Amino acid sequence: MHAQARLPVDLHCHSVFSDGLLTPAELAERAHANGVRLWSLTDHDEIAGLKPAREHARALGMRFVDGVEISVTWAGQTVHIVGLGIDPDNETLRDGLSDMRAGRQTRARAMSERLAALGFENAYEGALPFAGNPELISRTHFARFLVQQGHCADLGEAFRRYLGEGKPAFVPTRWASLAQAVDWILQAGGKAVIAHPGRYEFDDTRYHALYTQFLELGGVGIEVLTGSHSPREYGLYAQVARSYGFQVSCGSDFHGPGEGLIDLGGLPPLPSGLTPIWQEWL
Ligand code: AMP
Ligand code: MN
Ligand code: MN
Ligand code: MN
Repeated sequence: MHAQARLPVDLHCHSVFSDGLLTPAELAERAHANGVRLWSLTDHDEIAGLKPAREHARALGMRFVDGVEISVTWAGQTVHIVGLGIDPDNETLRDGLSDMRAGRQTRARAMSERLAALGFENAYEGALPFAGNPELISRTHFARFLVQQGHCADLGEAFRRYLGEGKPAFVPTRWASLAQAVDWILQAGGKAVIAHPGRYEFDDTRYHALYTQFLELGGVGIEVLTGSHSPREYGLYAQVARSYGFQVSCGSDFHGPGEGLIDLGGLPPLPSGLTPIWQEWL
């Protein structure tokens, strides 16, 4: 069997500081072992993992880019915006993220009540041990709890049946606005990227509005290769990048071994005719 050529860049993954299963050190080791030369950690709404990630990446001789994935509410849906090359000491960014994290406990209690009404008792207490960082308790931790208890076969089923948008245990949340998220990233000297565009459920008009508003706000990038896209979507969003003039970012969105389809560092090569966002970092 021939090993497929792989992209030596991975600019999107999660550690125990948000909803990943591995520590920054373990991620650095894994990225390095899988051939990554340029790596970014992009925890949800949290930058506390960047220092250990950066230190371990450096020790292994890997280039590292400080990253974050910000939760945004736009047109009634949750959209994720990745910030790359951010200054983790920037006060505007730090304060913005800190405010966002504050709402997660209340939301988690409310999700737990909805799950109790569905017959799953003590879900908050059950999910909490899965959260390495209690401030960042997320739906992923509730999904892991439901799987552990044998209520769902895998995370996908937990989201399809209970935790996904509009499902019975889903608690609508108001995250940052698109303008805020891009502003925080720009103020921190970073580049803003629309994460996994294929995951949203917008019609063509809404997608067009998202891209144009994002560009007007100063966003520059879009993810083309991500663990959340099918190979067909690689082509689709490569074309979106070309026609809107987006720089292209790529990342596995790795959360842990056994979760998701693409390993850290497991992305295929980039389609042709695209401008990588990472040119200045490699
Ligand atoms: P939250 O920020 O608490 O709303 O949780 C969002 C996280 O849930 C995402 O970052 C994903 O890691 C995870 N997630 C969302 N949808 C799914 C799904 N269908 N399957 C597995 N994980 C999902
Ligand atoms: Mn996640
Ligand atoms: Mn995401
Ligand atoms: Mn992610």
